[in-house]
Amino acid sequence: MSTIQSIGVVGAGQMGNGIAHVAALAGFDVALNDIDAARIEAALDTVKANLARQAAKGLVSADEEKAAIARIRPALALEDLRACDLVIEAASENQALKKEIFGKLSGVLKPEAIMASNTSSISITGLAAATDRPEQFIGIHFMNPVPVMKLVEVIRGIATSKETFETVKALVERMGKTMAVSEDFPAFIVNRVLMPMINEAIYTLYEGVGSVEAIDKGLKLGANHPMGPLELADFIGLDTCLAIMQVLYEGLADTKYRPCPLLVKYVEAGWLGRKTGRGFYDYSGEVPAPTR
Ligand code: NAD
Repeated sequence: MSTIQSIGVVGAGQMGNGIAHVAALAGFDVALNDIDAARIEAALDTVKANLARQAAKGLVSADEEKAAIARIRPALALEDLRACDLVIEAASENQALKKEIFGKLSGVLKPEAIMASNTSSISITGLAAATDRPEQFIGIHFMNPVPVMKLVEVIRGIATSKETFETVKALVERMGKTMAVSEDFPAFIVNRVLMPMINEAIYTLYEGVGSVEAIDKGLKLGANHPMGPLELADFIGLDTCLAIMQVLYEGLADTKYRPCPLLVKYVEAGWLGRKTGRGFYDYSGEVPAPTR
């Protein structure tokens, strides 16, 4: 089993900043990369703010907070990840984009380094095939928000070695997370179940069965969900929700997974949820306001 000390994170969006946060807090050196340098800066600010909140609640000490921040460095180019023992990719949910990143990383990383994807739905076996080391490739699927959510899904591709799996299992434990192992099929376990429910909630809105408010209230108070499905879709990102539904629809070749046209329209409009300030709710005011 190889020892991981330094972790590269590719993609400094909502998931990338959370992964950098938990990795640094667990004592790993972290190099945080994004195609957009401004996203790295924003991610570092988010990590600092979230660590400060954890410190204020007494969940981490002032020393741990300071040490974690010091362990994260910006990496403006993929070449800056050369020394990493493990690279976790958390770029946008797009297979071609991810394959391009892994192809480039193959020429940069040392031979013993492990590559992982945080993909919500895309075939781990397919991504591994774009690398020079399918046996050292694995899915590590964190949940959003990463510092809060306990679960990490681990997905082996067809070629993933036992050693890679054992190394990642130990890493997940060191990060204080609980692992669930999923086979490599479209959207794995959590999103195979969760995303069709969210898509159905969007159909319920599209067909006029209920308003945004009624649908979210219904699932919160009627099914005891902590967040309504439309609120949750905005939190995940509507582009990510659509991409996952497309992987389910195409990967399982079953019309029951067809993405709701209203979801497609919101993504076309650039209304991607919280991250763009508008989705099923408008986030410009003090309290999110339903947009339909
Ligand atoms: P996001 O839109 O917040 O961030 C994506 C980031 O990737 C952006 O900062 C973008 O600039 C960057 N990026 C795009 N192309 C890049 C490239 N070529 N190189 C480097 N960076 C690049 O998205 P997110 O919600 O953080 O999702 C990222 C990944 O995590 C996706 O695969 C998604 O499916 C997965 N995921 C998301 C959630 C969720 O709830 N949002 C949960 C689990 C997993």
